[in-house]
Amino acid sequence: MHTYQPPVKDFMFILYDLFQINEKHSDIFADYSKDMVEPILIEAGRLASEVILPTNKAGDIEGCTLESGKVKTPNSFKEAFNKIASGEWPSLNCDPEFGGQGIPLTIATAVGEFFGSANVALYIYHVLSHGVYSTIKAHGTSKQKSTFLPNLVKSKWTGTMNLTEPQCGTDLAMIKTRAVPSINDSYKISGQKIYISAGDHDLAENIIHLVLAKIPGSPDGVKGISLFIVPKFIVSPNGEILNPNNVSVGKVERKMGIHGNATCVMNYDEATGYLLGLENKGLSCMFTMMNEARHAVGMQGLSQAEIAYQYANQHAKDRVQGKPIVLTDRDTKRNNDTQTSDTIICHPDIRRMLLEQKSFIEGARAFAIWSSLLIDKGNYSNDEDAKGLVSLLIPIFKAFLSDKGFESTVIAQQVLGGQGYVEDSEMSQFVRDARIAMIYEGTNGIQAIDLIGRKLTASGGKYVVNFIREVKSFINNSSNDEIFKTDFVTPLNSALDDLEKSLDYLSKYGLADPNNALSGASDFLHLFGHVILGYLWSQIGKKSLTRINENRDVDFYQAKFETGKFYMKRSLPETKLRLARVLSGKDSVMNINQDRF
Ligand SMILES: Cc1cc2nc3c(=O)[nH]c(=O)nc-3n(C[C@H](O)[C@H](O)[C@H](O)COP(=O)(O)OP(=O)(O)OC[C@H]3O[C@@H](n4cnc5c(N)ncnc54)[C@H](O)[C@@H]3O)c2cc1C
Repeated sequence: MHTYQPPVKDFMFILYDLFQINEKHSDIFADYSKDMVEPILIEAGRLASEVILPTNKAGDIEGCTLESGKVKTPNSFKEAFNKIASGEWPSLNCDPEFGGQGIPLTIATAVGEFFGSANVALYIYHVLSHGVYSTIKAHGTSKQKSTFLPNLVKSKWTGTMNLTEPQCGTDLAMIKTRAVPSINDSYKISGQKIYISAGDHDLAENIIHLVLAKIPGSPDGVKGISLFIVPKFIVSPNGEILNPNNVSVGKVERKMGIHGNATCVMNYDEATGYLLGLENKGLSCMFTMMNEARHAVGMQGLSQAEIAYQYANQHAKDRVQGKPIVLTDRDTKRNNDTQTSDTIICHPDIRRMLLEQKSFIEGARAFAIWSSLLIDKGNYSNDEDAKGLVSLLIPIFKAFLSDKGFESTVIAQQVLGGQGYVEDSEMSQFVRDARIAMIYEGTNGIQAIDLIGRKLTASGGKYVVNFIREVKSFINNSSNDEIFKTDFVTPLNSALDDLEKSLDYLSKYGLADPNNALSGASDFLHLFGHVILGYLWSQIGKKSLTRINENRDVDFYQAKFETGKFYMKRSLPETKLRLARVLSGKDSVMNINQDRF
């Protein structure tokens, strides 16, 4: 088994040097000094590498099984789940009123990456529970909050989200599950939900399902959907378990990855449920959970990219194969022995692959903290601009990080050669585990449509204009250093220009014929994602140059500067290709007759 080195130092750099959370956002982070946060991250990293990682491969091999109507998770999961729970890690950023620790998401995000890298299938049980916690907290009555939240916060109970049905995943207007009013303000829920993550398991005492259903007589389509709390076991108002509800598992899916997470067909047979939020407003309530989950799914892409990179990096330094064509200083020192093969990290193509991973991961990590910071500013300081901007960024965060995260695991697999393909190396698990993030929580295609259809135009396009203004202001105020200008500012400016041209096209031709916009939606999302990472890398590059000039931790900052340069030169120009595709509009996509496919 390989090891995992939690990237604590990188997170500390992003939090305290790049974003200076203590100084620039002291209203939220005054109590979170470096000295206080670093030990938290170190301890979370230790748990991830020593307790959670050892369960990852076993979980992949064993998977989940359905025995006599009950789901059994992999043997090693219970102990690791309990250690995560007893350390109160899932409640880091839950409200102290319900037993949480009240720590901002920005800090909890780092912990999420560590746990996701160590075993994403296991961590999803906690992620979903947190989503259910947030949704009940946002929309529940005070009785619902006091009944359900304390045990969710303690991880004594877990949670699920139930949207998908056999006939509908994306198009929720076709939901068939019914909720019939019953006694004491409860409802009888009947229907089948499929692909429900963590739908059933043996890790916790109770499972709180959030289920979308229609009350008879409600309006057609999504306007008639309501949300219900349906516990696996009925509980008393003070949280005591009473009797089983009419909820059963029809099947546990066999699937490509995340084997340790039970993906279930759930049958509701007049199960007792309680309305959460207002009647017919279920979808907007569920969006509390979906937005949080979309951020978590982007993190999933990043977490798998990181662990896969660590394995690939180690392999590239161990595997001896092929002579270097051009000798480096190090080779010359190695006795000028040109006949000897060297470790594969000497080969330009291997270095390219490692840098593609490294530059994506470190840029994406800065994006993770930036977006979490905006979420915290929205929540703690009611900052409307932060809320609007992060709402624009969420579909990009989910889709760009999961697409590139998966791609990154495939590149890591390539670095391992044949060893990357056989199961012994554990690399293929990361590829398989990363793949689902592109599909669930709304496919990445749907994220792109959400971005161009709703998010860009929200508040008259104010938030995209604000973003462009912010990047331009950075460009105008960037340092006079010629190297920095050439390596960072010029490519950023050019990519921003591509973003503006694509926006121009979408507003002119997309409005005239939506297919012009829809045909290039995914390309637009990737173009935007690259501009964001280019902007963040430029900030990192600028900071690194300052620190190098101050002669502080030069190795670390030099590595940052070089990695950023790689991103700006080799990854960012993808905006040109993406722009060309956006500008090509609908013709090449829509003209071919359906019969010709
Ligand atoms: C392992 C796993 C775990 C899951 N966990 C959960 C869970 O916990 N809870 C839950 O409710 N669901 C869950 N899902 C379901 C998941 O969210 C859906 O599979 C996903 O949203 C896509 O829905 P679908 O499978 O019905 O595909 P479809 O909706 O049939 O889509 C098929 C393809 O068509 C595209 N498409 C559909 N409509 C449009 C459109 N209007 N415009 C352009 N393209 C379109 C999609 O992007 C996709 O590429 C899970 C799925 C899996 C595989």
